[in-house]
Amino acid sequence: MARRHESARGSMPLTELLISKESKAMASFGVRDLDTMMRFAPRRYVVPAPLRSLHEVNEGEAVSAVVSVVSVRDRAMRSRRGFILEVTVSDGIEDMPLTFFLTKPHQVQWHRGRLPVGALIIVHGTVGFDDYRDSLQITHPDYETIEDTDEGRAWAQRPRPIYPLRQNISQATMRSATEKGLEFADSLTRPVPDEVIARRGLPPLAEASRLVHIPLTVEDTRRGMAHLRYEEAFILQAIFAQRRAQDERTPAPVLSAEGPLQPLLDERLPFTLTQGQREIGTKIQERIGKGHPTSVLLQGDVGSGKTVVALRAMLRAVDSGHQAALLAPTEVLAEQHHRTLITLLGDLARAGQLDGHAAATRVRLLTGSQRTAGRRETLLDVTSGQAGIVVGTHALLAEKVEFASLGLVVIDEQHRFGVDHRRRLRAKGAAGKSPHVIVMTATPIPRTAALATVGDLDVLTLSESPGQRAGVTSFVVHEKLPKWERRMWQRAAEEIAAGRQVFVVCARIDEDEADAPAPLILDENGKEGPPMLEPARGVTQTAERLAERSELAGARLGILHGRLSVEEKQEVMGQMVRGEIDVLVSTTVIEVGVDVPNASVMIILDAERFGVSQLHQLRGRVGRGEHAGIAFFDTSGEPGQQHSTHLHAIAETTDGFELAELDLRRRGAGDLVGEEQSGLQRTLKHLDVIRDARAIEQAREDAFAVVAADPELTTHPALAGAVADRLRDADPDVERS
Ligand code: ADP
Ligand code: MG
Repeated sequence: MARRHESARGSMPLTELLISKESKAMASFGVRDLDTMMRFAPRRYVVPAPLRSLHEVNEGEAVSAVVSVVSVRDRAMRSRRGFILEVTVSDGIEDMPLTFFLTKPHQVQWHRGRLPVGALIIVHGTVGFDDYRDSLQITHPDYETIEDTDEGRAWAQRPRPIYPLRQNISQATMRSATEKGLEFADSLTRPVPDEVIARRGLPPLAEASRLVHIPLTVEDTRRGMAHLRYEEAFILQAIFAQRRAQDERTPAPVLSAEGPLQPLLDERLPFTLTQGQREIGTKIQERIGKGHPTSVLLQGDVGSGKTVVALRAMLRAVDSGHQAALLAPTEVLAEQHHRTLITLLGDLARAGQLDGHAAATRVRLLTGSQRTAGRRETLLDVTSGQAGIVVGTHALLAEKVEFASLGLVVIDEQHRFGVDHRRRLRAKGAAGKSPHVIVMTATPIPRTAALATVGDLDVLTLSESPGQRAGVTSFVVHEKLPKWERRMWQRAAEEIAAGRQVFVVCARIDEDEADAPAPLILDENGKEGPPMLEPARGVTQTAERLAERSELAGARLGILHGRLSVEEKQEVMGQMVRGEIDVLVSTTVIEVGVDVPNASVMIILDAERFGVSQLHQLRGRVGRGEHAGIAFFDTSGEPGQQHSTHLHAIAETTDGFELAELDLRRRGAGDLVGEEQSGLQRTLKHLDVIRDARAIEQAREDAFAVVAADPELTTHPALAGAVADRLRDADPDVERS
C-alpha cells in the first residue's frame, strides 16, 4: 500500500525544482512538494566501517580506508568479453589492489577519470583473497575522492542515508533530489514556532533538514531527526489542544445531580467499591458535572470492575434528567451488559412495574437484529426518555435513533470502535448539546502512547482488581507435538470432571470457507515474520472433532458464533451460564466481558491468528471466580518460530501495560489500538510512542500553551496549515467533521 504524504499547502512543487526522473521518484512515494520531501526521512543510515590501515586488515572483513592511488591498469579479459581494471592503492605502508570487472570501455574510462594517480580516496568494501596472485584485494569497492584535510576525512566517513526505494529508483536519485531540496531549506514552512524550537534546544528546521539528509556524524542524524519527531508530536498535540479548546466552548448537559438513583445503587451493590473505583468515580463526576463535553478513557485490566464505575456515572445522567447509552462491540456483549445492568440495578431498573422502585428507570436493549415489534417499543422508550439507560451496539449510532436527551455515552472496548465515532455521537446530544463520552478499554495504553494517539481524552486508570480472582496461567501448546495436545484435552477433561467448564475459541466459523490471512507479526527489528501456518480451524468442524475425542467422551458440547440468531445465541449463553454446557466452542464473540465464573479452561486454537489484546481478553474469561484458570494458546507453528516466540511472550506476562508495549513493538509503532482505529494514530511517520516519550510530553506542553494563547492559530498560519494537512491525511472521511 502506498504510504500517503500530505502535500503541505503553499510549498514549492517538486516538478519545478527537480529533473523529471527525480520528481517522479519522489511522486511514487506521494511526495510532491519541498516541505514533504525534506520530511521524507531516510529509512536508515549506513555508517562506513571505522578507518583502518591496509596492513591490519584480514580476509572477509568490511573495511574503510583512506588511501592514495599508486597505479591504474586495465586489460581485456581472456575468457569472456569485458575488461579488468586494477587500481593499486597504498596507505603509505601497504599496497593493495582494487579490482573492477567491467563490460564496457566507457566504464573503464569513467573510473580512470575519477582515479588519477596520486588521488586521495576513501575506499569501502570487503577484503577478499586473490588466489591467482596469492594476495588480498578488494573487488568492486565503493570509493570517493576526498580532500586531504580533517574535514575531508570526516566527510568521507559520514553516514550514508538509505531511503526507501521502489522499482527503478536508485539511492542516487533519491539523494540528489533531497540534496537539491536542501538548497531551499531556508524557505521551508515551520509549523513549530521558532522560539519553541530554540527553547527545546532543537536545531532549526533548515539545519535539521541538512542533518537528516546529509549528516556528518551519527549524532547529526539524531539531532536532525529529533526536530522532525518533535514537529510531528507538536502538530498532533496542537490538534488535541484545539479539540479540547473546542469542547470547552461547546455546551453539554450538566450531570451533577446527587440522587436518587446513584446512592440507591451504592446501597444495593453486593460488594464494596474499591478505593480506585471510588476515586475514579469522583473524577468522572467532576468532569461530567461541568457544562462542557468531557471525553474520558477509562482503562483497567479485564475484571478490574469498569462496568460498575460506568453504571454509577450513567445513573448520574439519569438523576440529572438525561439519558445514558452504553455501546458494546457485539450483540452478545450488549446483551450481557444489559443483563448485568439489570441485575445490578434490581428494582431500580423496573420503572412502571409493580415491584419497581419509586425512583426506578428503564434499561433498554437495542440491537440491529431485534424484531420489529420489540424494537418499536424500545425506540419509543428511547425517544420519549422513558428509558434512562439504553444498551446497544453500533446500531445505536444509526441516524434513526433519537434520544430524548442523551447526556452520556459509554463505549465499551474502544479498540473496536474508531475513536472518532465519538465525534459522530456528539451530534446525538440534546438541544445542541454534546453528550459526555466515556471510553472503556481493557487494553491499557502506556501513558505517552495515549498522549500521542488519543491525546484529547482524559486517561483514568483502574489499577487494582477487586475480589479474589484466582487468576490464570497460560501455556503455549504446539500441535506438532501430539503429546502436548493430548495433555491439553486431558487437562480440560479433568476440569470438567471437577465440575468446571471449558471455552474453546476458533479463528473462524467454517473451514469450508476462505481463510483469512493471519495477522502480521513483526520481529524486534520491525521485520515481517514467516507467513502462513496451517489453515485456521472452524467452530463447526472443531465441535465435530471434539465430539470424537476420547478425552472428552460424555462432555456436553455447545457452539456459539455470530451467525446464530439472537435467540439462539442467548439460549447458548444461558446454558453456559447455568452450567448445562461443559465445552463451549465459539468464535471471539466471547472475547470481552462474557462472565461465566465457573469456567476454568480457555483453549485458543490457532492462537497466532489473534492479537495480543484479544488473547489477553480471552484468557481473562477464566479464573474469574474462586477457581484458578488455565489458558492454552494452541498453535500449528513450530517451536522457536516467530509466531510461537510471540505467543510465549504473551503467555509469560499478565501485566496489561507490558502486553500493550509488546503489542506496540510487534505491530510497529503507530498502529496502536487496533485495525479499526482510524485517523491520527495510524499515520505516525517519525514518532515512536515509546522511544519518543519525552518529546511527546514536551510537545504537548508547548502545543497546549500555543493553542491556549491563540485557539484559532491566527498568528500561527504555518501551524494551522500543518494541522489541516494532518487531519486530511489522517482520515479524509472521518476527521473532517
Ligand atoms: P471489567 O473491568 O472487565 O469490565 P467488570 O466490571 O465486568 O470488569 O467486573 C468484573 C467482576 O467484578 C464483575 O463480576 C463485577 O460485578 C465484580 N466487581 C466489580 N467491582 C467489584 C468490587 N469492588 N468488589 C468485588 N467485585 C467487584
Ligand atoms: Mg467489561
